Amino acid sequence: MSELEQDEAAHRLATVNAAIARAAKLAGRVPETITLIAISKTHDAAAITPLIAAGHRVFGENRVQEAQAKWPPLLDRTPDIKLHLVGQLQSNKADDAVALFDVIHSVDRLSLVTALARAMARQGKRPDCFIQVNIGMEAQKGGCAIGDLPALLGQARIEGLPVIGLMCVPPLDLEPAPWFALLAKLARENQLPCISMGMSGDYETAVMLGATHVRVGTALFGTRGQPA
Ligand SMILES: *Cc1c(COP(=O)(O)O)cnc(C)c1O
Repeated sequence: MSELEQDEAAHRLATVNAAIARAAKLAGRVPETITLIAISKTHDAAAITPLIAAGHRVFGENRVQEAQAKWPPLLDRTPDIKLHLVGQLQSNKADDAVALFDVIHSVDRLSLVTALARAMARQGKRPDCFIQVNIGMEAQKGGCAIGDLPALLGQARIEGLPVIGLMCVPPLDLEPAPWFALLAKLARENQLPCISMGMSGDYETAVMLGATHVRVGTALFGTRGQPA
């Protein structure tokens, strides 16, 4: 890792943290209650290491297999890192996800609730979970329909899944604020303390509207080579 890479990573991290703190204060919130998840998908260990060296400890990936290939050696070196899964999860990967991740943001259907509950029982490990809501009702997107949320949450509670909040990825080309406000309202109505929303382009807006977890990739790592 070169000194330049190290400086650049530290600078990007400080910039994002300062923007989060500013948005939090504007909204009368305490910045320390907001978790910045550095989304490292498509970036290799060499790109991630400078951010770890700059003191960051919370990272997110969107694919189980990619994370399995990349993270174990990094976690060996820095055991206090927390790893979040933010991408769609197939039920047959539930065991792998429970084994590797500390938090899972993409619980969105009954079959996955059951698969995760079984994996947690088998492993005696209980990563915190978010229910992903398809907030813009987009056909191609993951997440449960708003109307299905009560039943899904009810089943998750019956099966003992540790659900701490809701997560969304709003429609790409629309103003994100109304979707963020809607997700925050749904979290309140369902007595869920955590809200995972906001990416590089809109995390300050998300913080002002109540995000407790923001998922930021590009603003910390630069643009990704290929779509992920
Ligand atoms: C890639 C990704 C992000 C980060 O996106 P950026 O625009 O690069 O900040 C956040 N959330 C999810 C679910 C993602 O897949």
